[in-house]
Amino acid sequence: MQSRWDDAEAARFEDEIGQRVYSSRLLGSDSALVLSGGGNTSVKLRRRGLQDADADAEVLCVKGSGYDLGTIEVHGFTALRLKQLIAIAKLAELSDSDMARALRLAALDPDAPAASVEALLHAILPHRYVDHTHAEAVLALTNTPSGEKHVRRAYGDLVIVVPYVKPGHALGHLCARLVASELSGNTIGLVLLHHGLVSFGASARESYERTIALVTRAEEYLSANGAYEIPAPIPPGPEAQLGLRLAELRAQISHAATVPMVLHHDADPVCLSFARRADVAELSQSGPATPDHAIRTKRLPLLGRDVDSYAAAYRDYFEAHEGRRAAGEELQMLDSAPRVVLDRELGLCTAGRSVSDAIDAAEIYRRTINLILRASALERWQALPAADIFDVEYWSLEQAKLKRRPKPSEFAGEIVIVTGAASGIGAACVDAFLARGACVCGLDIDPDVTASRDTPAYRGAVCDVTEEQAVAAAFEECARSFGGLDMLVLCAGIFPQSRSVATLELADWQRTFAVNADANLLLMRTAHPFLELAPNGGRVVVVASKNVPAPGPGAAAYSSSKAALTQLARVAALEWGANGIRVNVIHPDAVFDTGIWTDEVISARAAHYGVTPQEYRTRNVLRVEVASKDVAELAATMCGPVFAKTTGAQVPIDGGNERVI
Ligand code: ZN
Repeated sequence: MQSRWDDAEAARFEDEIGQRVYSSRLLGSDSALVLSGGGNTSVKLRRRGLQDADADAEVLCVKGSGYDLGTIEVHGFTALRLKQLIAIAKLAELSDSDMARALRLAALDPDAPAASVEALLHAILPHRYVDHTHAEAVLALTNTPSGEKHVRRAYGDLVIVVPYVKPGHALGHLCARLVASELSGNTIGLVLLHHGLVSFGASARESYERTIALVTRAEEYLSANGAYEIPAPIPPGPEAQLGLRLAELRAQISHAATVPMVLHHDADPVCLSFARRADVAELSQSGPATPDHAIRTKRLPLLGRDVDSYAAAYRDYFEAHEGRRAAGEELQMLDSAPRVVLDRELGLCTAGRSVSDAIDAAEIYRRTINLILRASALERWQALPAADIFDVEYWSLEQAKLKRRPKPSEFAGEIVIVTGAASGIGAACVDAFLARGACVCGLDIDPDVTASRDTPAYRGAVCDVTEEQAVAAAFEECARSFGGLDMLVLCAGIFPQSRSVATLELADWQRTFAVNADANLLLMRTAHPFLELAPNGGRVVVVASKNVPAPGPGAAAYSSSKAALTQLARVAALEWGANGIRVNVIHPDAVFDTGIWTDEVISARAAHYGVTPQEYRTRNVLRVEVASKDVAELAATMCGPVFAKTTGAQVPIDGGNERVI
């Protein structure tokens, strides 16, 4: 492992806490050292507190819980009175909740973020800077039957070896004892078996460089034993259509979780090769690399697609270990759905309530596969016993988080495809659904659709919706990103130049029908098997037009194509109702912030009615201007609970039209 220390960059960070921020970010931005949110760092300083007794307090500034090392700022560190921490670590026993309270009492500032649960481990080390990571190469050594032997061979007296105990007070207490008896002039770190690495030093740089040196030693040890190189993946074979199989799996997982879940497909060929290994059961069913991974990945991945059996086994695991709770504590069983799936055909898939959760689980498991392969090449992969994993998955601090969890967004875990997503009503629909927590797949012929939103919950695909293959490919991409489809919002449409029926070219008529009618048949037909699998029932919103109930002269092709689309939607509502799929139609009028309303079109329509363009914009009963956003809000509402018992409806959004009313 290469040191990434840069003197010029480091010099931009002032004083000791600044140096602490700089090297924490170096550690946090390397996924071979820590995964998102993992690891923690500290520095010991003198600080002035609010009370007289804290005029010149010796404090431990340690990473606050919930902060990411890769992006941490000075305010992400909490100052705790060092003497108090050392006294707490000396106590023979302390429950998790009492430790959390004791850490809050030790804080110099009562408003500071809650300190990392590993604060005691940092406090008991006499060194100024302490870095704690979950370094991958070190875990490959320790997660083997002879883990301790490998560590001692690799490191000699450079490190103190710490047997596994639960993070928190127990770990701080044990390290205090071992450090008191074993710390020598040669010691530059601790190896925590089945957990990670600690290094320390007098400066931020010394501690950081020691982490790099210790990880490099582990890599060299693996390399010397022929266990560092990951075997090249087997070629995955011809590309298959996986979309519907992913959607079926997502439906089962959502059923087990009792809420809609996102399923993310990982295309990494190393993962597919791993899932296809003859010994995948033996390798994958031992447990995670460190117990805290279980919070994101569960203890074990599902092998294959039998979610019901997985869920039953998870309930057994909970019941077998529930008795380990502290006296007086109530444990709330987490949902029994898997978070990681290894399947011979699908490869690696990960599930989450949000796409970020699913992507985090994928990153952890991709790393775990590397670890398993290295540990197996070295000796054999051996994770901690289930009881130790359970203690962390169900520790009181995690259970407390469940109670504080905010109410989920309306469409959390749900997926929508929006056509015409690059502009106008389609773009406004993308925003409306993202704001309600959905994953959105935006389709448009305009390439701007791909880069229009900076969130993992959005995926844009360039797609000519009149092309059958392009539509199939877009649905496949959506299923691979998010796992399926719950809602389809059809916005793409064209408004051709005004023409009287007497002069209307057949080609113009057909082109209008191709986009406004035929393409939507393709989209609905392709969506149907996905919508049937939607955990909360599929929903379709069709954006038609006021021209359906009240056509305008010169707009024969447009009005007829939207009328055909409306009839298509009504028949779909009849045919799909038995599957719980709702199909509703919106008839907007005079939405002038959309692509089809060029100034030329507005002037032509205004001239036709003998009004000015501005009068034309608000020419409705309520004298209001209707915007794309208004239509998008209605589309999202029609997919929500307000319209749960409505299908086949046509709702105008036009400020009131005398001809329609
Ligand atoms: Zn840790």
